[in-house]
Amino acid sequence: MTAQSIDGNALAQQLREGMKAQVERLAAAGCRPGLAVLLVGEDPASQVYVRNKVKACESVGMHSLLERLPATLGEAELLARIDQLNADPAVHGILVQLPLPRHLDADLVIERIAPEKDVDGFHVASAGALMVGRPGFKPCTPYGCMKMLESIGCNPRGKHAVVIGRSNIVGKPMALLLLQASATVTICHSATPNLAEICRQADILVAAVGRPRFVSADMVKPGAVVLDVGINRLADGKLCGDVDFDAVREVAGWITPVPGGVGPMTITMLLQNTLESAERSASALPPPARI
Ligand code: NAD
Repeated sequence: MTAQSIDGNALAQQLREGMKAQVERLAAAGCRPGLAVLLVGEDPASQVYVRNKVKACESVGMHSLLERLPATLGEAELLARIDQLNADPAVHGILVQLPLPRHLDADLVIERIAPEKDVDGFHVASAGALMVGRPGFKPCTPYGCMKMLESIGCNPRGKHAVVIGRSNIVGKPMALLLLQASATVTICHSATPNLAEICRQADILVAAVGRPRFVSADMVKPGAVVLDVGINRLADGKLCGDVDFDAVREVAGWITPVPGGVGPMTITMLLQNTLESAERSASALPPPARI
């Protein structure tokens, strides 16, 4: 069996096309969705990421604000700038690009963002809302994975989903979203014994490990849906995922490539969250939970 590939670029494009009309409808009502992106320092990878996020905003007609701040910026100054953006009605989403320079406490900084503008979904209020099933922003990468499942008509209800990785930004929220969708979920991590055996039981297998080609064909159940979140740079400069794509595609039913799989969906769901935030602010919908 050769798996069908889930084209993240095509799905992202389709979703973005759909967003354009919603953005214009909100703009006509006086509420053009706006995203503020703060980049502290000059990390080259982060510069590329923030540029892509700003370009994506523009591509759907959203307002964006990119602030490049010096690596020497003090914590109090950064927190004060976040306070200003929290109070700015033209800004519906605030994103602080991670990693931050070492002298800045990332948890403190993220938690200064108003939960109703936390479009990355990293604030503890967003994480708590996801945990208890209250309205809130879902972290973009797992949210994108759920959209990919939906796009192929894969309903997680009653399926066994195995998530490899337990990070706060991918593994844990991915498991919670699958659980919310009534899958039976197993979370695996670096201390899990019998990993291959557990993975072989998965109808849906999500790899978020950060190790090139970690998931081999013998870890995959025939016909399974395999979502590869990993982005690893090889010595030759090429990107590769956590899944051995060429081997696993001969076993799986569906598989996401890297690049061109989950990656483009992550930015798209950032736009979706910003849109949802603007919709909430333009209507009487209650904001997400505050703590
Ligand atoms: P992380 O390093 O925070 O977490 C990795 C997880 O893998 C950990 O929970 C760890 O327990 C688990 N792990 C490590 N070795 C293992 C092993 N031998 N067996 C089982 N589990 C093991 O990473 P992260 O932030 O969750 O990111 C994971 C990958 O996804 C990275 O490659 C990252 O670049 C990528 N990523 C991609 C996107 C995207 O948009 N596609 C977004 C975020 C992260």
